[in-house]
Amino acid sequence: MGKTAIPSVFPAEGTYELSTLHVNLSCAAPHAVIRYTTDGTEPTSNSPVYHREAGLIPVKHTDGVESVTIRAFAQADGLQPSDTVAFTYRFACRPKGVFRHSLLRESSDTVAGLIRIEDFDLDRMYLIIGQKRAALIDAGWDYDGDLPALCHALTGGLPVDLLIAHGHPDHIAQAEKFIEYGCKVYAPYADKSMKQLDCGLDFTHIEDLKGGMRFDLGGTVLQIYATPGHTPGSVVVLDENTGDLFASDSFGSNRREIPDSAWLQLSGYSLESCLRSLETFLDAAGNKCKRIFTGHNAEMMDAQQYLSTLRKAMHNAVDNGAACLSPSLRSAAESFGSGSIAVEGDWRHDPIWAAANLQFLYDVDTQQDPPRYAPGFDPKIKTIL
Ligand SMILES: [Zn+2]
Repeated sequence: MGKTAIPSVFPAEGTYELSTLHVNLSCAAPHAVIRYTTDGTEPTSNSPVYHREAGLIPVKHTDGVESVTIRAFAQADGLQPSDTVAFTYRFACRPKGVFRHSLLRESSDTVAGLIRIEDFDLDRMYLIIGQKRAALIDAGWDYDGDLPALCHALTGGLPVDLLIAHGHPDHIAQAEKFIEYGCKVYAPYADKSMKQLDCGLDFTHIEDLKGGMRFDLGGTVLQIYATPGHTPGSVVVLDENTGDLFASDSFGSNRREIPDSAWLQLSGYSLESCLRSLETFLDAAGNKCKRIFTGHNAEMMDAQQYLSTLRKAMHNAVDNGAACLSPSLRSAAESFGSGSIAVEGDWRHDPIWAAANLQFLYDVDTQQDPPRYAPGFDPKIKTIL
C-alpha cells in the first residue's frame, strides 16, 4: 500500500512582520484528510481535521510566543498516512512607538510628494505633501511614539492636517497627539456611534469629515467622497491631479496575510447598499482613479482593476444570491461572525483578487426583525480581534 502525499502550506513558512497569519493546508492527493496540531505535539488520528470551509488556521503571535509550528499529515483512502511535516512561522513584530516610513514620490512643482508610514501592526498611513500644507490619511493603532513630530520632520515643518477616513481603532490612535501638536484633525461625525467596534475618538476638538469637502495643499487639492458601508461615516480621499485614491478600509484591502480583509458591512449595511456606495463613487470619480492605497495593503494597486474586481464580486452576490458565496477564509469567529464571502479571483495567485465579507445579502434583510443573515454568518459571535 502506497503512502499519501505530504501536506503543503500557503503562505510558506518563514518569518513575518505580523501578529496574525492565516495558513491554508492542502494535499495533492484528492480527498485526503489532513490532521494537524499547532501546539507542538505530534498529530495523531485523533487530532483535528483541517476543513477549508471552517476557515484557514490562524497562527498568532502572543506575548512569549515567538513562533508557532504547524505539524500535519494527510491520509487518503486506500493509502498509508503520509509522513508528518512541520511548518514553522516566526514573528518579528516591530515594537510599539516606532513608525517606519518610505518615500513613494518626491514632491515637485506639479505633483504632491507621497510618503507611506506604517505602525507596529502594519496599519498604513499616507502623508501627502503639497506646496503649502500636508495631509496625513489615518492615524494608525499605535498610541506610543510621536507621529505628528515625524510628519513635521518629513514635511520640513509644513502645517499637517490629519484626515481620519473612518473611526475604527486601528486608524485613530495618534489623533490626540495631533490635536496636542496644534494640527487640525478631521474625522467623520457619522462614525460617532457605530454598531460594532466603538469609535473611541473624542470628537471635542475634531472637525467633521464628509463627502464634498476639499483640502487645498497648494498645487494639490484633495477631494473627499462619502463611501458609507464599512462604517457609516467612511470616506475616501482622491488626489485628482495624480489619480491617487486613499481608500482606508472603505473598499477593503486584499492583503494575503489577512485574507477576507474587505469587511464592507461592519455597520449593518446590506451588500446591496455597499455596492451602491461603491458604484456611486465610481460614477462620480471612478475614471479619475489610477492607483489605490488602502489602509492595510503593503503596496498600491491599480485602482481600475481592483475596484472593478471588487464590484464584480459584490454584483455577483447581489445578482445570484447565496449560491455564489464561498466559505470565508477566516473562521466566523475572526470575521465578525461572517462565514461567507463574495469573492472574485484567487488570493493565492491573483494579486488583484477581491472579497467582501457578508452579514446581509439584501437591503430588506437589514430591516427585518429578526434580520435574515447571509448564510454562514453567526450573529452570536461578538468577540472580535
Ligand atoms: Zn476599519
